[in-house]
Amino acid sequence: MLRMSTLFLRTLRDDPADAEVPSHRLLVRAGYIRRIAPGVYSLLPLGKMMLENVTRVVREEMDAMGGQEVIFPALIPREYYETSGRWVEYGDTLFRLKDRKGADYLLAPTHEELFTTMVKGEYSSYKDLPLVIYQIQIKYRDEARPRSGILRGREFVMKDSYSFDVDDAGLQVSYDLHRAAYMKIFDRLGLQYRIVSAMSGAMGGSKSEEFLAPSPVGEDTFVMCSNCDYAANIEAVQVAPPPPIDASVIHPAMRKLSTPNAPGIGPLVELLNRDHGLQVTAADLLKNIAFKLDGRPILVLVPGDREVDVERLAKAVAPGKLDLFEEDDFAADPRFVKGYMSAIDLGDEHGVKVFADPRVAAGTAWATGANEVEHHVVDAVVGRDFHVDQYVEVATVAAGDPCPRCGSPLEIDRAIEIGHIFQLGRKYADAFGLDVLGRDGKPIRVTMGSYGVGVSRAIAVIAEQTHDELGLCWPQEVAPAHVHIVATGKEDQIAVALDLGGQLERRGVRVLVDDRASVSPGVKFKDAELLGMPTIVVVGKGLASGTVEVKDRRTGERRDVAVDQLAEVLADQLGDHLPPR
Ligand code: ATP
Ligand code: MG
Repeated sequence: MLRMSTLFLRTLRDDPADAEVPSHRLLVRAGYIRRIAPGVYSLLPLGKMMLENVTRVVREEMDAMGGQEVIFPALIPREYYETSGRWVEYGDTLFRLKDRKGADYLLAPTHEELFTTMVKGEYSSYKDLPLVIYQIQIKYRDEARPRSGILRGREFVMKDSYSFDVDDAGLQVSYDLHRAAYMKIFDRLGLQYRIVSAMSGAMGGSKSEEFLAPSPVGEDTFVMCSNCDYAANIEAVQVAPPPPIDASVIHPAMRKLSTPNAPGIGPLVELLNRDHGLQVTAADLLKNIAFKLDGRPILVLVPGDREVDVERLAKAVAPGKLDLFEEDDFAADPRFVKGYMSAIDLGDEHGVKVFADPRVAAGTAWATGANEVEHHVVDAVVGRDFHVDQYVEVATVAAGDPCPRCGSPLEIDRAIEIGHIFQLGRKYADAFGLDVLGRDGKPIRVTMGSYGVGVSRAIAVIAEQTHDELGLCWPQEVAPAHVHIVATGKEDQIAVALDLGGQLERRGVRVLVDDRASVSPGVKFKDAELLGMPTIVVVGKGLASGTVEVKDRRTGERRDVAVDQLAEVLADQLGDHLPPR
């Protein structure tokens, strides 16, 4: 039984100054977490219990799907990451350190290398597979923007598992088992979530899906179709291919027009229609944006009614390094006329690679810059007047855009990533030479999957999705206590509250009793609401007539229950949430 009189806990009246999102504010105020450094937090007893409860759910479902738990060190010698190429690839996000002899180490951001090596050391036959192994452990990532408390930490707890199979069909089975287990985990944690595809087919990538918890404070954006079951991370959305061009339409020759004092797409459309007798909209204009890719200039084309989504572009050109084209870059290269750029006379053969959104298809005609101040051209045809070197998904995706699968309008929402399942294939097996002998005695390259759950992040996500204006509001499964008993008076009430706590605990109920003698009932009620246990029992005035008040933290519903029936009533109510006896 937890007792407020001795519990290592101080609730705060005021929000911490650095907290921008509700979960961060409330977890600090309610005394679950305390900040040590950016993205680094300590857990107090209630926070530790939350972590244990989430961990228990994850562990139970991973065990049930056939996973076997292991544990790897967080401190890893450089060689492993050297072999996979990630010592370099991971860049600044990797925490690197040296031991006293000067040898390089890292703090693992994820553990593919070690799992692959371990299986290689232990297993040698196709008969040994399939295998799923997992760990629940601390990860380290020097995130560029640690934020929102434990939502995006630099040290955080992850469940990561890895599957090992001899063929693609086996990998698909392991993947599907994880998908089903994740649904059970997140259902039990009381989270609202969507499963969205995380990788565009265009990259030829293998299958990958994310579990996203919709939330206004989320850093991920995803789309879902208003009609079919298409749902994808915005990074993975592929524009539906444009309708085929009618080859019999012959566009007039490209013409250059004078376009003074028309900064931006809107004024330009107006000027072209007013002064040049055209009938164009923003969608008929090209937006030309220059960037640097690995230090070399590139040009990116999207229709004028779209923006370049820099994150999508960066994903599309990865691992190339993308930078903005700055003032001095314009000054250094006269081919880039700011405000009047076009792909005319650019392209691979001129040393400036031209990327375009798929809507800028061969044979389509556009109004675009003339590479000359205060001038634009119209009827510039792709493939005739300028060329596209590579099509990429770079345009912003907007609500109402057609679904790539069925054409119905897309909806758009923000979310927090809580899990990720990913068919790795043979990338790590290739790097480490992980083979097993097949039925015919010949070696088979093993195929792998990698699967993550943000365990510590889940605490914050549950808080985001369930809190209200009064405080935290935990689901039964993870709450540090099922029942929070508030004794409003000094003597009798405290004695009865402790006695009821004992009765409940004997039935397997987790209990927190506010037995503080020198604290006012008002403060106790406020704390109970802030701390967020699902059921609040008030031992107060009703005691004279043999009743206590039972309040549902979430709905606010209250009812009186006879003191001598309380334990039974609440235990019945909790039912499946209690451990078997
Ligand atoms: P994100 O896009 O949020 O950075 P990620 O794609 O880097 O996530 P994975 O490498 O797939 O995430 O890690 C598996 C899970 O670990 C994620 O789904 C997420 O729930 C959790 N996670 C990742 N980074 C962090 C972090 N910095 N703090 C807390 N949890 C994290
Ligand atoms: Mg990340």
